Amino acid sequence: MNIPYKIYLEESELPRQWYNVRADMKNKPAPLLNPATLAPASLDELSAVFCHDLAMQELDDTTALIDIPEEILNFYKMYRPSPLVRAYCLEKALGTPAKIYYKFEGNNTSGSHKLNSAIAQAYYAKKQGLKGVTTETGAGQWGTALSMACAYLGLDCKVYMVKVSYEQKPFRREVMRTYGANVTPSPSDTTNVGRKILSEFPGTTGSLGCAISEAVEAAVSTEGYRYVLGSVLNQVLLHQSVIGLETMAACDKYEIKPDVIIGCAGGGSNLGGLISPFMGRKLRGEADYQFIAVEPASCPSLTRGKFAYDFCDTGKVCPLAKMYTLGSGFIPSPNHAGGLRYHGMSSIVSQLYHDGLMEARSCEQTSVFEAAVQFARIEGILPAPESSHAIRVALDEALRCKETGEEKTILFGLTGTGYFDMVAYQKYNDGEMSDYIPTDEDIAASLANLPPTNEA
Ligand SMILES: *Cc1c(COP(=O)(O)O)cnc(C)c1O
Repeated sequence: MNIPYKIYLEESELPRQWYNVRADMKNKPAPLLNPATLAPASLDELSAVFCHDLAMQELDDTTALIDIPEEILNFYKMYRPSPLVRAYCLEKALGTPAKIYYKFEGNNTSGSHKLNSAIAQAYYAKKQGLKGVTTETGAGQWGTALSMACAYLGLDCKVYMVKVSYEQKPFRREVMRTYGANVTPSPSDTTNVGRKILSEFPGTTGSLGCAISEAVEAAVSTEGYRYVLGSVLNQVLLHQSVIGLETMAACDKYEIKPDVIIGCAGGGSNLGGLISPFMGRKLRGEADYQFIAVEPASCPSLTRGKFAYDFCDTGKVCPLAKMYTLGSGFIPSPNHAGGLRYHGMSSIVSQLYHDGLMEARSCEQTSVFEAAVQFARIEGILPAPESSHAIRVALDEALRCKETGEEKTILFGLTGTGYFDMVAYQKYNDGEMSDYIPTDEDIAASLANLPPTNEA
């Protein structure tokens, strides 16, 4: 069959339901725990922090298909389907017999896949009659996506942005403000937890874990607000399944059978979303695939972390999650420029990895940027550093096929564009980028502060 360079599904072929991979998992991801009582967090407890319908989705381990509300489908139509691209030029340049495909999620103003969940979360907040939502953002893609969704639905959006990013990425901040969001550098003196962190660590440039604590406090202490999160949670993977469902529909239509499916892994949402429907087939015994999660060598939660209950945030106000973690105090070394810096990993991805249903690899950032530049020059798209982790391993796999002569079909998620990451690219282009791999002692020190529940 002649496969187009770019595959776009017809409107009638687009998914109308999200897929919840938990329904097909034999070992369900462990429940979130209330940090005070250590009992599984109830719907009521979760609903104090999250929107009600999202808390329901968080707890739902059994419903395989969940209808996507009409309003969200309509919003998706503005920027979806995203293309599934056959990387003919890249294959030729590499001289590989492998076939390479990528699902490109960067064709919207937020520049990443995060809009898929942002619009869903904003929709349920609006439906509940809330006034607004709070969140954290690191590099800024999630904050941007959420600002866009809130602007569309007429909701307030308060973003706590990690201070170092707030200062280093003024353009990201301005995009969010253009969409009407209120952006505060974190830690700030607007919350108790922010003031506490500032007094303990004056001059700190902040971290995601700290911004999460501030955003949660702001939500629970402001009438008519809830907290929303752009990755890690089960509900986010559910929304992101739209990536995998579109990919699977396109593959089925053109009789493409991926052998290897690769995604970068920060909190696990794009990877989880891309692989979910394929993993469902594997779990049901209908097909087999090799899945590879790719993480930075400087923040290696799956490959070097521990599978344990841990705090999701520095201030320890969020429920505990069981996941592969480096410890909630873990902060990647300052020379790390490639994103994917969260200390933990989605409970769903963690459980699938723990059960041997997928693999994980870690890559050093100089090799990631080398892959990014090679891809940009051949395929035209300037990739986000995060996405480039998946590119790195896709290139490695394609080059291995060149040696062995295997005609594998390689599929990877290209999650976004890197226009706001030019300081990192500049470092790479100037030959000033270096690699730092945490020592076993670094990781052990951080893991020493896991919550005591794990010893019970
Ligand atoms: C946020 C982000 C990621 C990592 O987040 P996941 O939840 O692991 O998907 C990857 N790529 C881009 C472009 C992002 O913005």
